[in-house]
Amino acid sequence: MKWDISDIDSWKTDDFPLGAVIPEAGNSHYYRTGGWRSERPVRNVETCTDCLICWIDCPDTAIHVADEKIAADWLDLDHCKGCGICANECPVEAITMVPEGCELPEVR
Ligand code: SF4
Ligand code: SF4
Repeated sequence: MKWDISDIDSWKTDDFPLGAVIPEAGNSHYYRTGGWRSERPVRNVETCTDCLICWIDCPDTAIHVADEKIAADWLDLDHCKGCGICANECPVEAITMVPEGCELPEVR
């Protein structure tokens, strides 16, 4: 859809098209916030205690859990936006943020 905004300076409040429409519940799943990421979290499985604080605090629900533990395929890269909240909140510093494109450490 294209809008003609050539006369936008004269628009009144009701002339602006409706924004921020949520057509259905859960539609944020279709918005890949992973496209914003410049850094990704790497988890050290040897120091992780499976406390799940990172899972609770992740704003994009990008951390997977299975059997009340962090799952083996723990990170949803389609939705992890690289904000670093998980690394900041981890009580045992088991998560490190690394730049995208760099070689990942062996333990993750
Ligand atoms: S917050 Fe840290 S210790 Fe807790 S589950 Fe996440 S990575 Fe593991
Ligand atoms: S970096 Fe941010 S978006 Fe990605 S898993 Fe951690 S808290 Fe979630």
